[in-house]
Amino acid sequence: MKAIILLSGGLDSTLAAELMSREGLELLAVNFKTPFCLCDRHSSNLGCGSNARRVAEAIGIDLKVINATEDFLPVLENPQHGYGANMNPCIDCRILFFRKSKELMQECGASFIITGEVLGQRPMSQFRRQMNIIEREAGLEGLVVRPLSAKLLAPTIPEKNGWIRRERMLDIAGRSRKPQMALAKDLGINDYPCAAGGCLLTDPKFANRIRDLIKHNELDMQNIELLKFGRYFRLSSDAKLIVGRNENENKMLSMLAKDGDYLIAPASIIGPNAVGKGSFSPDLLHLACRIVARYSDRDGEQNADISCRRLPKGDEEMIRESFLDDDELARLRTLDQTSL
Ligand code: SF4
Repeated sequence: MKAIILLSGGLDSTLAAELMSREGLELLAVNFKTPFCLCDRHSSNLGCGSNARRVAEAIGIDLKVINATEDFLPVLENPQHGYGANMNPCIDCRILFFRKSKELMQECGASFIITGEVLGQRPMSQFRRQMNIIEREAGLEGLVVRPLSAKLLAPTIPEKNGWIRRERMLDIAGRSRKPQMALAKDLGINDYPCAAGGCLLTDPKFANRIRDLIKHNELDMQNIELLKFGRYFRLSSDAKLIVGRNENENKMLSMLAKDGDYLIAPASIIGPNAVGKGSFSPDLLHLACRIVARYSDRDGEQNADISCRRLPKGDEEMIRESFLDDDELARLRTLDQTSL
């Protein structure tokens, strides 16, 4: 039998893939990418799906990496089943990934889908009721096999039809990773960099920033990428400032700035790069420069020269500014909780 396995490259999906390949199934792995995945963040082989690729190669199965961003953003903006504890629309997200897996299943002549989900592990999408909703809305009722928890779940069509043996499935449940770690040891799997998976949307600080984008109708790829760096200041309904916190972020911000954005950096002292996006009145531009000055090396100075240039070819404007003091900064933060 041929089956599709959803493979993140984390521990659970790796175990599911290994177990099912040992059952003699022909597997095609699929890895879904969104701008919020953290699974590959510590990988030495950086790139989309690199952990999944490493696992697929080790097991000897083909892998298809699907960038689901375009379909995911409308789901993030308006999830039919709501958000989890932060801005994670897990039920809708799983429905989307399952629907896409079903399409792939039909394209390649596979008969069912396998996941590394564990019953009760994640509150929003891995409880029995939610699993059933996800399967039903994806049009995959009875066709999703979860080998790690299958014995605790209703028999699936592949089990009923004898395509796979139910007695070979497992009965793992809950949030502890210990059973999976013991199983990994038994199966000789030692390298699983992304044990718990990861999604930026479950991070409360990042979720605040995403809320801010949605509130201001700015949910697009460039704005999302900018959310991953720097300190974030919402200065008005259509102006924001992102200030680098270290050399790496300074470089990234300069690279991510687009035509129409302002590049702001201190000229007379050492300090951060910042990107201003949106519509800046002269007052707002001064405020932005004062914020940048605030995060620069003061070196006993009261004022600093801040260079300000609008991309692509705007003249460089040099603005001499005083440093924003702590009270002013605190007021800004109170005005908008997304300023981190
Ligand atoms: S944690 Fe993120 S990637 Fe995982 S199901 Fe939820 S929204 Fe989707």
